Amino acid sequence: MERTLSIIKPDAVANGHIGNIIKRFESNGLKIVAMKMIFMTKNEAQGFYAVHKDRPFFDSLTDFMSSGPAIPMVLEGGNAIAKNRELMGATDPKEAAEGTIRRDFAVDKEKNAVHGSDSPESAAFEIGYFFNSLEILG
Ligand code: ADP
Ligand code: MG
Repeated sequence: MERTLSIIKPDAVANGHIGNIIKRFESNGLKIVAMKMIFMTKNEAQGFYAVHKDRPFFDSLTDFMSSGPAIPMVLEGGNAIAKNRELMGATDPKEAAEGTIRRDFAVDKEKNAVHGSDSPESAAFEIGYFFNSLEILG
């Protein structure tokens, strides 16, 4: 069993895709073991995406992530990190495979519906960024 951090991003919350995205996880063997709705400050978004601080899209990305409510959740299952990345699809919805979350629900390469941890190390940091151990109900 493995855990990963997912976020339903502000575009997907605003566009009414929460239920459809959660359905993808639950239908594909990923169990939600923690979840909350938050409205990040710019500073909180910058802290979450600190690994990207030198990228040209950092300022725009953190503006977007602090533009409205988002839903971080912890997903648990076999190979949860890779499984979630597969369900998400490529960063740019135009390049995402058919049937993926981003292909079906993202707006564009920035407003791309969901976040997913990309390694065990990032999952550990990202889960801890939003949840303490008492909030994760395995
Ligand atoms: P992923 O979310 O697929 O792991 P990255 O970690 O490379 O992608 O980037 C983090 C987030 O930054 C992306 O999900 C997207 O919201 C945004 N982003 C990435 N590349 C770009 C870009 N070229 N232009 C605008 N936003 C981008
Ligand atoms: Mg990433």
